[in-house]
Amino acid sequence: MRAAYVRRADWGATAPTKGWTWLNPKRVQGIVIHHSGVVGGPTGATAVQAFERHHMQVRRWSSIAYNWLVDVDGTIYEGRCDGAVGGATKNWNFKTEAVSYIGDGDQPLSLEAQQGFRTVINELQHTYGGGLWIKGHQDLASTSCPGGWLYDWVMSGAAFDPPSGSHAPTVDWDGVVAYLRSLGDGLDANPLKRRMRGDKIRMVQATLPRWKCDPGPADGIFGWRTKAAVRLFQRQRGFLKPNGEVNKATWDALFFM
Ligand SMILES: [Zn+2]
Repeated sequence: MRAAYVRRADWGATAPTKGWTWLNPKRVQGIVIHHSGVVGGPTGATAVQAFERHHMQVRRWSSIAYNWLVDVDGTIYEGRCDGAVGGATKNWNFKTEAVSYIGDGDQPLSLEAQQGFRTVINELQHTYGGGLWIKGHQDLASTSCPGGWLYDWVMSGAAFDPPSGSHAPTVDWDGVVAYLRSLGDGLDANPLKRRMRGDKIRMVQATLPRWKCDPGPADGIFGWRTKAAVRLFQRQRGFLKPNGEVNKATWDALFFM
């Protein structure tokens, strides 16, 4: 079932300094969500290796602390060996599985990263029979981990579709992502800009508040206020030209970062 995960051997994990201690499935009660909190840090196997080095060489733990990690692009990494007791949640390691976001949970997660969390949480629910609670690290310790956006998203229940039989409808997230990306095609030739109207503009207006940019009501009309909000968003991202028009790069930054 976990074929899509990047296993320890595939990201170059180091053997633990002590042998594995195995979780007793009967004692496991929940899933704890963490984040690395690193803004603009490395991603992928480079990031996972960096956490492992930090946890083993600086903190002197036996292995990387998290059971699972979700990258910004939704890739799921096996942290501690599947089924082993983790080390990320003091006092709770024998009763929980710890899943960490590779990045800053104060920022909105991409759709791909959200899907990664959904996948790993659903897998864990299946592994333990569906009754696990989900909490943020901040519920169990004095910490801001896993960041405000990620905490709210997880606690609003976005993460778990209960296993209610084989005919339960499932959201086609890959399809949603592909669709959103395709809507951005052609925006380099014809960027969204002031005086235009339509559904794409409504979508842009609906997502700008997520980035704390206020375009006014999502009425599908690209007015001065929407332009100012787009420009503010572009300035905040740094790498986008702040011209108040939505080209492909701005579209992708709005919906996929
Ligand atoms: Zn944490």
